[in-house]
Amino acid sequence: MRGRTRGYRGRFAPSPTGPLHFGSLFAAMASYADARAHGGVWLVRIEDLDRAREVAGAAKRMLDTLERFGLTWDEPPLYQRDRTVAYAAALAQLDSHALTYPCGCTRAEVAALSRVGVEGPIYPGTCRTGLPKGRKPRSVRLKTTARSVCFHDRIQGDQKQRVAKTIGDFVLRRADGIHAYQLAVVVDDAWQGVTHIVRGADLLSSTPRQILLQDYLGLPRPSYAHIPLMLDAQGRKLSKALASAPVDPADPLPAMHRAWQGLGQIPIRHAGSPPAFWKQALAHWRIERIPKCASI
Ligand code: GLU
Repeated sequence: MRGRTRGYRGRFAPSPTGPLHFGSLFAAMASYADARAHGGVWLVRIEDLDRAREVAGAAKRMLDTLERFGLTWDEPPLYQRDRTVAYAAALAQLDSHALTYPCGCTRAEVAALSRVGVEGPIYPGTCRTGLPKGRKPRSVRLKTTARSVCFHDRIQGDQKQRVAKTIGDFVLRRADGIHAYQLAVVVDDAWQGVTHIVRGADLLSSTPRQILLQDYLGLPRPSYAHIPLMLDAQGRKLSKALASAPVDPADPLPAMHRAWQGLGQIPIRHAGSPPAFWKQALAHWRIERIPKCASI
């Protein structure tokens, strides 16, 4: 351990939509290693907001698998399904500052009318100044402003995004009544006192939205590190099939070595078990070694 970082609290936040796969293990190991190497606390949050996408028993299996990989958490896992009241309160707070508006558009309407941005259609603002006549509210959106959000990522470097231009007014509560990931993640990271977020680079473009919400809700901004998407030995993006292949809880070490190598860390030798692996690994963890693109 390289000295304590006072109050370091990290987390891993899987969605229980299937077995733990290699891509998730990669993120779990990086966030765990960074937390432990700083003498910090590591938490697990089950992001089960969308009950329709949840696979029965998946959360329990994920937790069992994490334990098999020696990834042990410090506080009882938080389940987002238990947090609806907190999300509603945050939404009410935003609403009281006139930062939200009801939107009556269907997905198909938005898709038909919008420019396509990095994450799909950029909402054209149809309902921003009031619901068109005869329209019923469906979702709730955040009113974005022209300002740029800047932050420093510990792996990806300086980042800047104009949320209004790149993403548009985004959904905070969906038409089916489910609070959106962007809102829930901000509310929960603050509630759990998370200080350091280490997660996959697929979420890099979500971070400015989360920072906007933190600012609007008066919540602290955690430090961010987005680990790279994995590339195969030829430098091609790892196929979905490989990244989403379940890891084998009965034989954790091969996947651990592979993920560790993908994270650019010094190889671990002669570790006969996950705890022995971590004992060596944590002494050598350097986030600076993580490449912007990972090959495995
Ligand atoms: N639940 C998200 C996922 O599984 C991760 C959320 C996060 O780390 O912020 O992709």
